Amino acid sequence: MSDHYVKVKVQLEQMKSSGEDAGKEGVEGMEEQVPVSSPPASVSPLPPSITIAGGDPAKTPIICKHRSKSRSKPGKDDKNSCGKHNSDLALHGSVVSGHMGKNLYRVGHERTLGKTNRKMQQGNPETNGNFAPGHRHRDMKDTRREEGLRLGRKRRPVTVDTSKAKTSLEALKLSIKQLKWKEFPLGRRTACDIYWHGVSFHDNENIVSGQVNKFPGMIEMLRKINLSRAVRTMQELFPEEYDFYPRSWILPEEYQQFSAQIRMVKENDSTVNPTFIVKPDGGSQGDGIYLIRDPSDLKLMAGSQTKQAVVQEYIQRPLLIDKLKFDIRLYVLVKSMEPLEIYIAKEGLTRFCTEPYQEPSQKNLSHVFMHLTNYSLNVHSGKFVHSDSQSTGSKRTLSSVLYRLAAKGVDIKKVWSDIISLVIKTVIAVVPELKVYYQADIPPGKPGPTCFQILGFDILLMKNLKPVLLEVNSNPSMRIEHEQEVAPGVFEYVPSPVDEDVKVGVIRDTLRLMDPGHNKPSIFKPRAGSVNVEDILMDPVSQERGQDDGGALPSLCLKQVYPKYAKQFNYLRLVERITALFIRFLGVKGNMRLGPTAFRTFVRNCRLSTSNFSMASVDILYIDITRRWSGSLSDSKEAGMGLQAFVEAFFYMAARRFKSLVLREQVVSLLELCEAQLQSQYGAGSLGPEDRRSLSCSRALPRGTKTQSLGLTNPHLGSPAPLRRAASQDYRLHQRLRPNALRANVDN
Ligand code: ADP
Repeated sequence: MSDHYVKVKVQLEQMKSSGEDAGKEGVEGMEEQVPVSSPPASVSPLPPSITIAGGDPAKTPIICKHRSKSRSKPGKDDKNSCGKHNSDLALHGSVVSGHMGKNLYRVGHERTLGKTNRKMQQGNPETNGNFAPGHRHRDMKDTRREEGLRLGRKRRPVTVDTSKAKTSLEALKLSIKQLKWKEFPLGRRTACDIYWHGVSFHDNENIVSGQVNKFPGMIEMLRKINLSRAVRTMQELFPEEYDFYPRSWILPEEYQQFSAQIRMVKENDSTVNPTFIVKPDGGSQGDGIYLIRDPSDLKLMAGSQTKQAVVQEYIQRPLLIDKLKFDIRLYVLVKSMEPLEIYIAKEGLTRFCTEPYQEPSQKNLSHVFMHLTNYSLNVHSGKFVHSDSQSTGSKRTLSSVLYRLAAKGVDIKKVWSDIISLVIKTVIAVVPELKVYYQADIPPGKPGPTCFQILGFDILLMKNLKPVLLEVNSNPSMRIEHEQEVAPGVFEYVPSPVDEDVKVGVIRDTLRLMDPGHNKPSIFKPRAGSVNVEDILMDPVSQERGQDDGGALPSLCLKQVYPKYAKQFNYLRLVERITALFIRFLGVKGNMRLGPTAFRTFVRNCRLSTSNFSMASVDILYIDITRRWSGSLSDSKEAGMGLQAFVEAFFYMAARRFKSLVLREQVVSLLELCEAQLQSQYGAGSLGPEDRRSLSCSRALPRGTKTQSLGLTNPHLGSPAPLRRAASQDYRLHQRLRPNALRANVDN
């Protein structure tokens, strides 16, 4: 791999310095005059998994950085950009540009023109200034016609704007080369098929067509507090289904509940001594994280400001390999939100701690290399093992870990199946609010791109093999080099075969799935049975194999899990139905909050007001809930009722109206009432296709699904949320995540 990698790098450098033109394979016209992309290095057609060659990456530094050890996160994987890649952009040559719609026959021609000067390019208005006059022009026309005839049958290569790709640029370039697509590293005046953003949907503004690899609002939704809130809402409705997320409290607003509950637990049983992990809301890569055993150890203030953070139960007994704690980084593609389509990468990474694990004690609470698996921390421990092998070292492939567990008798199919469920349920939890962001940024009827996104799920396996969700990264690192400290304070970037193998596969196959030529929704029929991981784990040659490339590419490493398993999970999509109501009454395009009048209209149109629940009570409810939520959302600039507040109001009204039922049934009943009202007033067409679909399956809670009373039988208007929350926050820490007996004899 490293040989291959270095060869590519060297070729890139040579071509850059010889001024070769990246437009060689291009089909675009010339009028854009945007400087051009880096040239295509000859990339092996073999998949990355096959191109691994020997070599010592440590001896082939890509970039050398000199700096002190106390770094301010320059290699920040997940959420920041990297200067290195920005400078890559500056190295690229000048671009041959194109005229959309007239470019089908220009491939060969551009090859000739790659080195023509700008005067020639501007010369002839007939040809959009692309061609030189005279006999040369005729020759070129002939050549063009011939090549056009030859290539006419070939479809136009997919165009990708990589100008904002940041730290994913290297992996993206390799992927585009493997697909023989066309890269625009400095952007393009006309539209591209795909825009690859390194950070957020808004990296490029004013995109009106094509596809962007980020959803609006994903960063916000996956911050620790918002993710915790979204999962908590689902835990209230489906406590058992959502028991994969550690119990969490939001600071500072829930400090009192947190300390009261811990006090209660300790008073009830003095032998219980739980540990908690505190995570700053906007943090990443382990920054600012610490462990505590008592609420009084919380550091609530940062200077004069209160710190926004999540405090979470600490999983004390993780599964260990070689006595080390590790976590799983799984790549998940949300291919589409409406209809919901989710793919999971068959291959992921595992990140290992570098100090043998011990259960937390007052003595070892501060040992970050023992408790935190972050690569960005452990790489500086001095004990980090860089390895070209996928199954040794401090970063390994997921499959190598699973096979090792399988060899010890672990039922890895069960582990995979649980992981798939966790992923689908988590996406279902965040989709409702994402839909609100989406309609605000791309209101229906307004031209805009469609979106997809690769997410990085961080998952911990407990000793009993139960997967636990730690967090979801909206910008998982797609770097394919890693830092190595070659001398004190001197860092080098060296190729990382393990990263390249996994990440190039994920990006390339995401692109294949998003190929506008093949981009049809779901090719799988939803399955009724339980999650069957056979076809995900053991699928050597899939039906998806290289339709687009005559079979030269390997089978897709991304496997569809939704809607494939939709039948098992659709009943969980209750909050989405509440969201459909919310969006319907938002009114003004681009709005994300409901005003008091819109809320009244919702209540009136759905006929929710009764003699017991007057419109005056509705107004009080609106004011009460909105005021409280606006206090707890630090970034709430807009006035009005946000989705989470609306959901709370909805739960409250459901509980009030259907007192005898448990919360989930209350909510389903109120939803059906609202939907039926709206349908009778506006007809079935008033609900979107997904709404109608979810409407039709809403009644069916799967057999055997247990309903649990959250104890909310007599809510009263003054303080609905505290009541609802208090009821659902009984301290069930140890029941919910108590490690059971080890399923198999796992190496600890
Ligand atoms: P960050 O975004 O800063 O990486 P994470 O939530 O991923 O924050 O936590 C950092 C690390 O802390 C994880 O990789 C994991 O090793 C450890 N960790 C996080 N939450 C828990 C938990 N609830 N129990 C045990 N370990 C945890």
